[in-house]
Amino acid sequence: MQLDILTMKKCIPIDDFYNRSFLRILTDVCNTNNSKVNMNEVLTSASEIRNSTRNREWLLSLYMRFYLSLEAALNPVKSEHFSLNIPQDIFQKVHGQILPAIKQPIFFTEGLGEEVLELILKNEIVKDFQPQIESIFKNSYFNNDDLQYKTVLNGSKSVIYGCKNNTWQSLIGITHELGHCISEGKHGYRSFASQLRSEYLAQILEENLVRNVLLERNMTTELKQWHRYQRIVDLLNFYFAIREYEELSNLSFIKSKIFSKTAEALRETFIRNTGYQLVYGFASLNRWPKNYTQSLYTT
Ligand SMILES: [Zn+2]
Repeated sequence: MQLDILTMKKCIPIDDFYNRSFLRILTDVCNTNNSKVNMNEVLTSASEIRNSTRNREWLLSLYMRFYLSLEAALNPVKSEHFSLNIPQDIFQKVHGQILPAIKQPIFFTEGLGEEVLELILKNEIVKDFQPQIESIFKNSYFNNDDLQYKTVLNGSKSVIYGCKNNTWQSLIGITHELGHCISEGKHGYRSFASQLRSEYLAQILEENLVRNVLLERNMTTELKQWHRYQRIVDLLNFYFAIREYEELSNLSFIKSKIFSKTAEALRETFIRNTGYQLVYGFASLNRWPKNYTQSLYTT
């Protein structure tokens, strides 16, 4: 990915008030040290920008900040993992078309041998949140016929909607949504900054809580598959963050597109929620392991 400030500036017309202040923010961003991602700095800037400007502006400013951080953070692994030559055999296929959905390790569909909510509650990583989690679970909607997982608002509380069939998949799905609920209970859900925070916490909690369970059970092969799967999720998130940026700016960075236009539509958030690919990209960027060198091309 080649991206420089001049290219960025060229894509932004400067003849109205909003874009003049965008340029000011852009300059500030360029002047900050972008050698590593500073989560608090980005979150603070996200709330400030959200409170003081109109939509288009905060979106573009965040993109700018995101891309600078992305470039810097991924520099060491860029040549190996981030050439966007993502291996195509990691995706699910229908009628020969590659879908923006990752092939899942087999163990995801296997049973846990334990009640999933109890398993989550006793995990070390959430021990400080037990009363809150019990209340979230009590108010959630678990329906074994629907394999979708989402966080929904019940009154003013964030709760989980999903399948509780005691498979690894249900552990993964419920844990992810639980991360959203905990974050939104503490920081709200309305602002862009709280969305960034919420997705970040959901991803981190999902990866680490499931890792703990795999470790406890000495499932070393599955543990490797688990972390590899998460890194591929990250690459896909980066890919769509860049794709969305391309769409918004009419610029093109990705040389060879992985998915057809119709297949891209199956990434639901790419079509429905403008700006949300940044939220995913941001979360992935912040959890991407430092100095990650493992190859994703083999299982
Ligand atoms: Zn999420």
